This record gives sequence, structure tokens and C-alpha cells, in this order.
Amino acid sequence: MSPLGKIRSNCTLRGKHWLWRGALSHKCPAMHHEGRTVAVRRVILEIRDGEPLPVGAKALTSCEHHHCVSPHCAVSGTQSDVCSRIAERMSDTAKHVLAGRRAATARRRATLSAADVERLRTSSERMVDMAAALGITEAHGYKVRNHKRWRDFTAPHFLGLGAAQ
Ligand SMILES: [Zn+2]
Repeated sequence: MSPLGKIRSNCTLRGKHWLWRGALSHKCPAMHHEGRTVAVRRVILEIRDGEPLPVGAKALTSCEHHHCVSPHCAVSGTQSDVCSRIAERMSDTAKHVLAGRRAATARRRATLSAADVERLRTSSERMVDMAAALGITEAHGYKVRNHKRWRDFTAPHFLGLGAAQ
């Protein structure tokens, strides 16, 4: 059986897609080929294109089936293609994390103690460091320092502070 036939016989065929039922290596379809474990799509691409993949190229699929090894779907991509795809996915995650942090920051704003406020107003530390330590934004720290946000703080927080100033 030709390598292509052997691969095909390990797949569930669905239209143009060849859904791999065989072994996986690092979550990718893998097979023994010429004494080594290789990515099935790499073999497919080399058979289809008649030449080895370019150095550094990855064998990927252009369709939505992660385990599709169809020669109709297989594409070669560089590491940077792979990285930019990962970066796209990461950016969604990063946005989510940032949104969560902003929400947490907003919640914490109201919990600055009188001592925190005094620190923001009188300390010689850099505002960026204090803001990070207190879980507030730097801009908010400056507003507190400049007494623009005193209404954010409940009266009990200010009882001691007023006397101290
Ligand atoms: Zn496919």
C-alpha cells in the first residue's frame, strides 16, 4: 500500500476531509514513516508537493478539523504563522484578564484606608509603585493625592486623616 493509501485507511473520510483515527503526538496526527515518528500532515504535504517542507515550516490544516490530514486541507506554515495564530487567541485571553483586573481595581478603590490615602498624599514613593501596591490605577492615585476624589471615601476613613492634616 502506498503511504497515501496507508494514511487514508487510517482516516474517517468526510467529504474532502480526512479525519485521522490513528496515533497522536503532541496532539497532532502522527505515524511511523521510514523508521521515525512523523507528523502525518508533513508526510501528506511532502507527497502532495513532491518536496520536503521548507526549513522551519510546520504542517498545519486550513480547515476546522484539528485532526484532518487531507491533502486538500493541509498547508505549510512558518513558526511565525503559528505564533501569530497563538497570539490572536492569547489576545482574547489577555483582554479577559485585563477586564477582570479593571473590575477588581474598581472594587478595591473604595477600600483604601485612611493610611493608604495619607501614603498616596504624602509619601515620596513613586506614584506608579504605590498605585500598583494598592491595586489602583496611577491616575486614580494622583486624583487622591490632589484631593479630587475625597468623596470616594466614607467619612470614617477620613475622621483620623482630617485630624492628622
Ligand atoms: Zn479538512
